Amino acid sequence: MTISERTVRRREDYDGVSPFPQAAQHAPAGRAQIALTATIVVLPFVALAIAIFLAWGRGIAFTDLLLAGAFYVVTGLGVSVGFHRLLTHGSFTARPWLRVALAVAGSMSFQGNLINWVAVHRRHHAFTDRPGDPHSPYRYGTGLRAQLRGLAHAHMGWMFADDQTSPARYAPDLLADPAMVRVTRAFPALCVVSLVLPFLAGWAISGSLYGGLTAFLWAGLVRVALLQHVTWSVNSLCHVMGTRPFTTRRHDRSTNLWPLALLSFGESWHNGHHSEPTCARHGVDRHQIDPSAGLIRLFERLGWATDVHWPDPVRTERRRRANVPEQARAPTEG
Ligand SMILES: [Zn+2]
Ligand SMILES: [Zn+2]
Repeated sequence: MTISERTVRRREDYDGVSPFPQAAQHAPAGRAQIALTATIVVLPFVALAIAIFLAWGRGIAFTDLLLAGAFYVVTGLGVSVGFHRLLTHGSFTARPWLRVALAVAGSMSFQGNLINWVAVHRRHHAFTDRPGDPHSPYRYGTGLRAQLRGLAHAHMGWMFADDQTSPARYAPDLLADPAMVRVTRAFPALCVVSLVLPFLAGWAISGSLYGGLTAFLWAGLVRVALLQHVTWSVNSLCHVMGTRPFTTRRHDRSTNLWPLALLSFGESWHNGHHSEPTCARHGVDRHQIDPSAGLIRLFERLGWATDVHWPDPVRTERRRRANVPEQARAPTEG
């Protein structure tokens, strides 16, 4: 039996509660990758401490808050509308310039380069919460300790493991798209731009170098840290806590988690998303606020987005668990 045959057998054998077979042979990534990842994920967090120290007793400048909000919205929608709904799942077609603009905005979020991001996320959908999933909180099993360890893995730990996802296998469409390859190659430069722009804006508005520095901290690094943790929470928390109104594939335990809806631009309606991944709206029920879907609707009205996959009420109701007889549900759907 070849290794890949063995892996397939293990995936089929998975019972929905045991640790994944590869959890035991968890190899850490190379030193260079660990150092780079640590810089990208730890530095913004350290900046938060410095920013709080500097703001102590004197508060945060209104300009910094405004700039942080603006950069958060632009880069956050770049991830949710661009990286995720457009480029990973093809839930609409965008004009070529808009496609590039969204890819650039998403790249400024310090979440890895575009093609890697898409490949990892498509793999997550292909193997959700079963062996092969790059970041499942069920990797170590379903007991309390295993679950806590799994949450840490799904949130950040997976980035430190030697578990490469093949872009050739999972994102051949983007590799064949010269504009997307260029944006992917520009990732390091876009990271620099993402920090330099707030600094320059803060400097220009306040007229002082100190104003530029605090804008760099709040609208640059702290904004990056917040968006990173919100995005990673969709990987970790939105597979563990919350509601599961819709049926998904076997073993998939994605959830809807309302407290994160606004900060994640609608991405935390994650059960709705896993239930129908190519749908442009993740919050399909009333009162499920989904700013990303709102932006896609705006693009559609402006004629910049076409072929938008909006939810179909009949299909949505068919996937609602309340309407699905219990025996027809997948075995691990609790
Ligand atoms: Zn997921
Ligand atoms: Zn997705």
